[in-house]
Amino acid sequence: MLGKGIKIGSVMGIPLLVTPDWFLLAGVTIWILATQILPGLIDDQSTAVYIFMALASAWFFFGSIIVHELAHSFVAKAYRIPVKSITLFMLGGVAQITREATRPYAELLMAVVGPLTSLAVGAVFLGIFWLIGADTSRPIGLVIFWLAFMNFGLAVFNIIPAFPMDGGRVFRSLMWMISGNYHAATQAAAWTGRGFAWLLLSLGMLAVLGVDVYIARDWLGGAWIILIGLFLESAARQSLFQNRVVRKLQQYRADDLMQRDPPVVDAEMSLATLARGVLELNPRVCYFVGEAGRLIGIISSYQMRAVSERLWDSTTAGDAMVPSALLHAVAPDRLASEVLLDMENGDLTHLPVVNDGQVVGVIGRDRILGILFQAGYLRPQRA
Ligand SMILES: [Zn+2]
Repeated sequence: MLGKGIKIGSVMGIPLLVTPDWFLLAGVTIWILATQILPGLIDDQSTAVYIFMALASAWFFFGSIIVHELAHSFVAKAYRIPVKSITLFMLGGVAQITREATRPYAELLMAVVGPLTSLAVGAVFLGIFWLIGADTSRPIGLVIFWLAFMNFGLAVFNIIPAFPMDGGRVFRSLMWMISGNYHAATQAAAWTGRGFAWLLLSLGMLAVLGVDVYIARDWLGGAWIILIGLFLESAARQSLFQNRVVRKLQQYRADDLMQRDPPVVDAEMSLATLARGVLELNPRVCYFVGEAGRLIGIISSYQMRAVSERLWDSTTAGDAMVPSALLHAVAPDRLASEVLLDMENGDLTHLPVVNDGQVVGVIGRDRILGILFQAGYLRPQRA
């Protein structure tokens, strides 16, 4: 859903990314501010002043969005949920929080803190506006007033109960609290989210056709609302799908799906010896790589294929493996849904299953996805 981000910095150890399409949003925002919004609110300024005001407004506005996402991340971290990144993209900002909260109260807090933070930031801007004389006829006063207004707008927009937006998450956590049923709450919240998405899509289309629907008055506003509607619809549908997948995989534990005692190969063995035959005859095979009686990594057909065949003779298993430091062990009773999430978050295809400090097997991503293929949730893709 999000394009690849470019790292522009990091806050609290969280990488800050912008996607290429964000530059379009930033450009259009600055352009509309400088040529339409600001000239409509304050007269008789030079072009340079309008441009400077637009740049300052946009800078602090996007800064406000980052502060909003940081608030979500801060609570997530307090609950020991890792945050992968904060990304600014064409429709705003998103904190990539690696997994869902395990308790409704945590989810409520994690969601509600975003809009509350935007309210607080809006109040701070309003306070500064008041301190410097509450004068919107001066450029600086107007910019600060606009920032207060936009932050209040951000708070209101995000509290709309359209899952997976903040308001939708608040809605889900409340239903989860009341019913005690996470899946039913997610199901209901996601369907409400889709309903809102369809409402936005219809309003956007009316606006494009020239009807004044209050939240948009022209085709550009309409197109914008349609984009947001499409994004929400796809995100809500994805949540429904994810919910089904998690429920299916919760029926299995790591030791139901693992390969027991995979063969150990020596780190010095050449990839040529290892890979020839294996890739065609037994593509799902996975080896532990050992050195002096110690397991130092894992190698599967994925790592073998990643090395060009020309280099197989000069590459050893130890060169091509995923080293132990990048893997983390899973317990035999860990649910398959959580193992899959660990793999996605670490970009891994196999994880060792360890019981009481003893490696007892290895679990492959293929095997977990196989469950979903069998259940008809996924269509097998050709590698
Ligand atoms: Zn938020």
